[in-house]
Amino acid sequence: MPREFKVLVVGAGMAGLMLGHLLERANIQFEIYERAEELRPLGSAMGFGANILALFEQIGIYEDFKKVSKEVFGTAFVDDNHRQTAEIGGRFLAEKFGYAYRIFSRPDLMKVLLSRVPAHKIHMGKKLVDLVQDDEKVTLTFADGTTATGDLVVGADGGYSTTREHLYKWLEEKGTLPAIDREPMTFGFYNLLGTTNPMDPAKYPVLAEEEGKIIILHRSNSRHAIQTFAVPGNRFAWNVTCHIASNFGYDSKVSSTTDWGTEATDAMIEEVREFNAPFGGKMKDFIDATPRESISRVKLEEKMFRSWYGGRVILVGDACHKMVPSAGQGAVNAFQDAAVLVNNLYDIPDRPTGADLEAAFASHYEERYPNAVIAFEISQQQSVLIQGQTLFHRIMRWIVSHTIPQYLQERTIDRVNSYRPQVSFLPMVPDKGVFGVQPRKVSKRYQEELSAGAQAL
Ligand SMILES: Cc1cc2nc3c(=O)[nH]c(=O)nc-3n(C[C@H](O)[C@H](O)[C@H](O)COP(=O)(O)OP(=O)(O)OC[C@H]3O[C@@H](n4cnc5c(N)ncnc54)[C@H](O)[C@@H]3O)c2cc1C
Repeated sequence: MPREFKVLVVGAGMAGLMLGHLLERANIQFEIYERAEELRPLGSAMGFGANILALFEQIGIYEDFKKVSKEVFGTAFVDDNHRQTAEIGGRFLAEKFGYAYRIFSRPDLMKVLLSRVPAHKIHMGKKLVDLVQDDEKVTLTFADGTTATGDLVVGADGGYSTTREHLYKWLEEKGTLPAIDREPMTFGFYNLLGTTNPMDPAKYPVLAEEEGKIIILHRSNSRHAIQTFAVPGNRFAWNVTCHIASNFGYDSKVSSTTDWGTEATDAMIEEVREFNAPFGGKMKDFIDATPRESISRVKLEEKMFRSWYGGRVILVGDACHKMVPSAGQGAVNAFQDAAVLVNNLYDIPDRPTGADLEAAFASHYEERYPNAVIAFEISQQQSVLIQGQTLFHRIMRWIVSHTIPQYLQERTIDRVNSYRPQVSFLPMVPDKGVFGVQPRKVSKRYQEELSAGAQAL
């Protein structure tokens, strides 16, 4: 029998879909509301490692994920003339943490996740415009005038979260919103990205290789860095990043909107078409092989929000921690949020009071906030090292790659990979690799269910 409370999830992105799958597995009632009329296959390459692949293995999506991803054992940095300037090795990852790093195209992972959530529980064309909570329930109103009522709301609606806006108004009225949470997100990079249609392996032999390869080309006479990844299906996932900063320091700009629409995308396509591409040829070869409607231009905003919950509302994913993507931690942390939140909801009473929900949210925050901060800080450091294009950042990159020993560079990776949450209401998969893993909380309810099952036998 499903539990008697109902979760309303706003947003069917990475976090929303993972939540849907885990809530289904936990037998908790839920509905997902997504503003888009249809889920479009937008995005470029992403990479995941041990800190989320243990969860993938536990919930049974690792095999499907492997089919759409490639192992990658290193990243090469090259200049405009394809001369290698630095290299980061990755072969130690599998041995140390039990899982190799894998790259894939975002739309492929979205398809895997979508196949794991009952279609009738995802409501498209439902743009949240209002949220009202009281002691008993919470009610959502959508742009089409319809409403939905549930026991709690999870805002998985991304960096410009409407759920967050309503939660913050509620917290402000109570006088508990820190001023810092009202400051806008910042950004120091913007990005043009896409995934090509299948290309010719005879022209690009890297496509036929079993192992994935990442090449990052730093242009010497502009602020652009270009990344290209060979992903399964003879395709390339590519992105061109532009760094906007003064010569020293991080210097992010304030951001007020998430993208610029088609005219700005067309302008950036024109700007970068003649750039040399990392695997040879020009960027236009890759751009022309990519359906125009799936090319997007995005700002890479960042902000670590302090307030994640209040009353019957909680935020997950980019809605509460928007990270720059260089360290590959944004979606990983969105999934970790989903797993830890469902763990905490699994243990609340069948008919939870407001106090039960707040206690579950507080327990979630206690585990997730410090780990998200680590991922956020590492993302910030990596973004300037990998994509920083001022003189200062070029010098920093050279120093780090040529003078800092491998074991010190690995410390950053160790920090994020020692935290590998799994869900507490399913059998755990054993930890792999040789590096220690942070202890996980055990579900009281699950333990009771297991012993009741054992006694019944
Ligand atoms: C170029 C790039 C590369 C990246 N690479 C990596 C990587 O390698 N590894 C990694 O872990 N992360 C990576 N990330 C980050 C990752 O994509 C994000 O962190 C992740 O998608 C966040 O998921 P989310 O579900 O929180 O938000 P989103 O994926 O943004 O989903 C939010 C959803 O909510 C919907 N929505 C918004 N407002 C409303 C509303 N009012 N009503 C209803 N629905 C609404 C949106 O339409 C959307 O579907 C990368 C990001 C970029 C830009």
